[in-house]
Amino acid sequence: MTAFAVPIRPQPTVPVQGSDRPFPVRRILCVGRNYAAHAREMGADGRDPPFFFTKPADAVVLPGADVPYPSATADLHHEIELVAAIGEGGALFGLAVGVDLTRRDLQNSFKARGQPWDAAKGFDASAPISAIVPWTGPTPQGRITLSVNGVTKQDGAVADMIWSLEEILVEAGKLWSLEAGDLIYTGTPEGVGPLVRGDRVEGSVEGVGALAFTVV
Ligand code: MN
Repeated sequence: MTAFAVPIRPQPTVPVQGSDRPFPVRRILCVGRNYAAHAREMGADGRDPPFFFTKPADAVVLPGADVPYPSATADLHHEIELVAAIGEGGALFGLAVGVDLTRRDLQNSFKARGQPWDAAKGFDASAPISAIVPWTGPTPQGRITLSVNGVTKQDGAVADMIWSLEEILVEAGKLWSLEAGDLIYTGTPEGVGPLVRGDRVEGSVEGVGALAFTVV
């Protein structure tokens, strides 16, 4: 058994619905501006090629866990997203519901200065996710919604994605070798907005599932 210089962190995993074998997370890719109305609310327009950013694998927040309000922001935003889980050979393994938490104030500052988004997107506990549902066949096209304290904030349709899940996998595959354990957050519909401590967030993707967490 190899001895290591510092303790090894546990492998981040996400539960798989109907299975006692969890999904080991390799890395998290995220698509920016993949719904036209959200792109417009962020000040962009048109069908630009999809662009990606990343979060560390251990940013996942598992079902039932709270989300600590992150440091260094006064404008934490929710973005409800359909998540693709990649299996053997880079093929789709399953789907989940996720929230791409964003330090919007930092992101706006980085955008204005042409700096990388990493600290705005890839912070600790920035990727809440539901259990992964093993998936074959056509991807869902139905409603994708998020509420805060019971008030609906985001209410879109997966069918309105600018780049479909199939296209995202192709485009991501041009940039990375997709491997088992990769998660891809596929973008958010309009209606993103702030969260504060104490907020109860509930999200769902029709036909896939739901997630809920409290910001503490
Ligand atoms: Mn997003």
